[in-house]
Amino acid sequence: MTETNKSSLRVESLHKSFQIGDQTIDVLKGVSLAMKGGDSAVVVGPSGSGKSTFLHIIGTLDQPDAGSVAINGKNPFELAEPELAKFRNDVTGFIFQDHHLLPQYNVLENVLIPILAFHRDAAPFEQRARHLLERVGLSHRLSHKPAALSGGERQRVAIARALINKPHLLLCDEPTGNLDHASAAEVAALLFELHRDEQNILVVVTHSLELADHFAQKLTLSDGVFVTK
Ligand code: ADP
Ligand code: MG
Repeated sequence: MTETNKSSLRVESLHKSFQIGDQTIDVLKGVSLAMKGGDSAVVVGPSGSGKSTFLHIIGTLDQPDAGSVAINGKNPFELAEPELAKFRNDVTGFIFQDHHLLPQYNVLENVLIPILAFHRDAAPFEQRARHLLERVGLSHRLSHKPAALSGGERQRVAIARALINKPHLLLCDEPTGNLDHASAAEVAALLFELHRDEQNILVVVTHSLELADHFAQKLTLSDGVFVTK
């Protein structure tokens, strides 16, 4: 990562509500957080407490009702959609509970998908894709389709894909939620290793207390705000 010391995330007093019929659900009621490159944090809380909502907002996939988000000093919500999509692609890497790999493409191609969104030619990025796939232990599976992989292997491809653009923010939503115990431990270990190597900002949301125990900074979402534990 070339601009490590520029990576920063500053979230101030985020509020987010959802309207369902005539009911308003206040999910986030003043969430604040500041992180810089090399920092990691886990957000825990019961199902429905707003973990995914929080992650989507800091990943610019959703807008807050009030409060601010600054990524590397920039307010992403000032950008209109085509520029916002480019910003998101450059700055964030997502790992979800489901791997979201494209079944018709092989492992190497799947890792290059975020590149193809904004560059006509993925070739200059192929070396990094191969390097990342080696780091996640899949160099011998480059030409295999996702269907030929185990759940843990697919999630390891998803990690490589999330990192292809050297994101400043690595955002994970229940990254081990679909995995057996051994695969979950492997995926968690890889996330930490690559986070340390690349000095990005790592935010993981999970209801897995086992995963959460790996983190020094643990934020519990409770009644719409962070309680530090
Ligand atoms: P968690 O990830 O902690 O399980 P979520 O952030 O997914 O929680 O959801 C928090 C609350 O917001 C839930 O009550 C959920 O139903 C509601 N919610 C989330 N997204 C939407 C949406 N797009 N429309 C309406 N309600 C939503
Ligand atoms: Mg969720």
